Amino acid sequence: MAETPTTLKTARKCPKCNKNGELIQKAPTEVPELTGYVFSCGNKVCPWFNTRWVVTVDDDDKVPTRDIGHDPKRFPAVQPITDKQQEHVLDWIEDDEAGS
Ligand SMILES: [Zn+2]
Repeated sequence: MAETPTTLKTARKCPKCNKNGELIQKAPTEVPELTGYVFSCGNKVCPWFNTRWVVTVDDDDKVPTRDIGHDPKRFPAVQPITDKQQEHVLDWIEDDEAGS
């Protein structure tokens, strides 16, 4: 039973209202093959209005189903985050650029 990989196209849709989230930020991650996206739901009647979530995809715009790289980070297809968590996520996303 093969798992269908979640694509960026799927993961950018809000899990609650199924509308495309607004792209807040796109940034490289500390793993070269992966790119991080932060989306926010702009649908005023949605329970996730103004909720942000992070999507991490590989070179094929697919959400990895396993850990990539040396760091055992998890890459859930969709994960709601608070502003504070977003700062943290963007910190580790931007760490890579600062370090090289
Ligand atoms: Zn929504």
